[in-house]
Amino acid sequence: MADRYFPLSKNQLEVLTKQYPTPFYLYDEKAMRENAQKLTKAFSILPGFKEFFAVKGLPNPFIMKILADEGFGADCSSLPEIILSERAGIEGEDIMFTSNETPEKEYIYANLKGAVINLDDITHIDYLAKAIGGIPELISFRYNPGPLKEGNAIIGKPEEAKYGLTRPQIFEAYAKVKEMGAKRFGLHTMVASNELSNDYFIETARMLYELAVELKEKLDIQVEFINMGGGIGIPYKPEQKAVDYDYVAQGVKKAYDDVICNGRQDCFKTTPIKFFMECARVITGPYGYLVTRAIHEKHIYREYIGVDASMADLMRPGMYGAYHEVTVAGKEDADKDHVYDVVGSLCENCDKFAVQRKLPKIDRGDLIIIHDAGAHGRAMGFNYNAKLRAGELLLRSDGSVVQIRRAETVDDYFATLDFKKLATFRA
Ligand SMILES: *Cc1c(COP(=O)(O)O)cnc(C)c1O
Repeated sequence: MADRYFPLSKNQLEVLTKQYPTPFYLYDEKAMRENAQKLTKAFSILPGFKEFFAVKGLPNPFIMKILADEGFGADCSSLPEIILSERAGIEGEDIMFTSNETPEKEYIYANLKGAVINLDDITHIDYLAKAIGGIPELISFRYNPGPLKEGNAIIGKPEEAKYGLTRPQIFEAYAKVKEMGAKRFGLHTMVASNELSNDYFIETARMLYELAVELKEKLDIQVEFINMGGGIGIPYKPEQKAVDYDYVAQGVKKAYDDVICNGRQDCFKTTPIKFFMECARVITGPYGYLVTRAIHEKHIYREYIGVDASMADLMRPGMYGAYHEVTVAGKEDADKDHVYDVVGSLCENCDKFAVQRKLPKIDRGDLIIIHDAGAHGRAMGFNYNAKLRAGELLLRSDGSVVQIRRAETVDDYFATLDFKKLATFRA
């Protein structure tokens, strides 16, 4: 099987490493934009479609600016993420604030900036009202469907998730905020992550549309949007298949037509319900790469290739045993006749980018590409073992490369320490 796509040749990559030593992340703007356009085109058959890019997946304002240029908003779950969105030029209701266990000051800031506040719990109504002195005109709730009725097994086990309001709470909550003066309403859910089933998303949307109809019938509340959350998966493994945007969009449209238009009379005729999502993984994941160099080889009970990146740069394999495709620059067509563990330098044995993986023979100095690292990659990085995280490069659509975040330095690592105080500190 042909190796996975990578936008630069070995020579181009070697040239790049002269200016930017490994390890680094590389993001492919052209591919990212094409995907964003494909998603938008597919889902534009739904009224008011908007994707709010979940900032936590790739919190880089350069990337966010590109995505905003493609019409995306931002989904934030913390105050710094809101600030970052503003720096990228995303403001007001283009920011969805889907947080949980939210501190008071974050609600205050989100409200001040006019972000859409999406509450994770019924008790947050009073908490928010106390923080900001009332209820915003527009308010949304995150629904947790819990143990669903038969035939909906596809939705997994939301009853074990900490998020959202139960079904009875949802009705109570909307009634309460309406009484407190809310005028505009949204409805949100997110019950899975890295899901590859097309039908799963259609089911989720249908569930939200049905709930929207119930809210209208029982409380005379008309939601102006449903937000299906994130969670669209990507094919990390070669045998997996990407979610089909057109299939999902058409399925959701059918659910909309069944439930909202034809189904239960004409309650939504005048104002169509907008369709939102807040994905990250599928938006940037496949278009980001961690580029690292083989610096050691070790022959003990297994064959090891030691690289100059570590789990501190990309935690997913170590944390979840997640699979990431690994290729070797310039050896795309070579036989995969070796079996390696490709490992980083952390003093943790789970610091392995690939375990017992069939790869071509790797020599010291080879450039190793770790694929599908564009979401929940560098963002999840950390500084354990005083590891300094890799920087980020953007391959622009015109073929040029810009650094969009430099690599960390020792000074960054020390930035929160006061060495002056230490000098006079008596042990
Ligand atoms: C993490 C998260 C997302 C994005 O998830 P993906 O799986 O990357 O699409 C969206 N919304 C919320 C509330 C999240 O926590």
